[in-house]
Amino acid sequence: MIHVVDKKELTIGISACLVGEKVRFDASNKPSTFCMNELSEHVTYQSFCPEVAIGLPIPRKTIRLIKKDDMITVSQPDGNGDVTDALKAYGKKVASLTKHLSGYIFCAKSPSCGMERVKVYSPEGNSLASTGVGAFAQEIMAANPLLPCEENGRLNDARIRENFVARVYAYKHWQKLVASGLTLHKLTTFHSHYKYTVMSHDLIAYKKLGQLLANNDVALDDKASQYISGLMAALKVIATRKKHANTLSHIQGYFSKHLNQIERKELSEQINAYREGLIPLIAPLTLINHYLLQHPKQYLANQAYLSPYPEQLRLRYAY
Ligand code: SF4
Repeated sequence: MIHVVDKKELTIGISACLVGEKVRFDASNKPSTFCMNELSEHVTYQSFCPEVAIGLPIPRKTIRLIKKDDMITVSQPDGNGDVTDALKAYGKKVASLTKHLSGYIFCAKSPSCGMERVKVYSPEGNSLASTGVGAFAQEIMAANPLLPCEENGRLNDARIRENFVARVYAYKHWQKLVASGLTLHKLTTFHSHYKYTVMSHDLIAYKKLGQLLANNDVALDDKASQYISGLMAALKVIATRKKHANTLSHIQGYFSKHLNQIERKELSEQINAYREGLIPLIAPLTLINHYLLQHPKQYLANQAYLSPYPEQLRLRYAY
């Protein structure tokens, strides 16, 4: 269990309305059950309401994304009260002061906080395509492309929720590694811990990351920056049932010679049942962890794949 991180160590940025603060235009909030009741047990939140921070009152007139020619601004529906520059400036400021964040949860659909697919309107008030990004969120994401970001609505999807939390913990481990002083040995060890994790997301990325680490012509700083970009991009790919099953088979192969015939059969049946959608991922993983206790293998025990985040989050029970 090398991948446990203390709650006090792990800070996630979040739209203030999602954690119950009554900061919305109508003085309401938008509490997220997952954020407030489950994830909050394991992470520390740092909440931001950009609209209030730039001086808008509570309650206030609604604002929206308005597209005129090729320019998108954030203002009231009648075009008054343009706060685009203020939101962007605040986003830049927050981004520069929050390099310690390991993730960000944005409030969906907001012209300030929306991460994607925010409604855009014409100056006449007609709804155009939902392709906008909140002015504040855009600055946060642009300033740190590695930061795992998600929206409250998407977190209701079990796979997206699992994917986001796994990325947050992986990124936190990386931040700790860098803070401890990066060496080639530490980088290689980190990669070996994430071997099966990357495999379950993106096999091509896994091979490329391995090649990158083996390339002696790349200086350490460049190698590290290319590595973490490649890793975070790979982890963003949602791991499918098929890829998980293949990864489980690889793990099985790694220590199957230590299992007797009955144990091998039992594990194969669990992996196949998972592959066919009959049982959730936690079932074969529990069996693997059980066998691993009986037949300790340090290399496997160190794999982030087997313990990517606190078990209590129960993220592998749903699919
Ligand atoms: S979505 Fe963002 S700007 Fe709007 S109320 Fe929530 S935190 Fe404030």
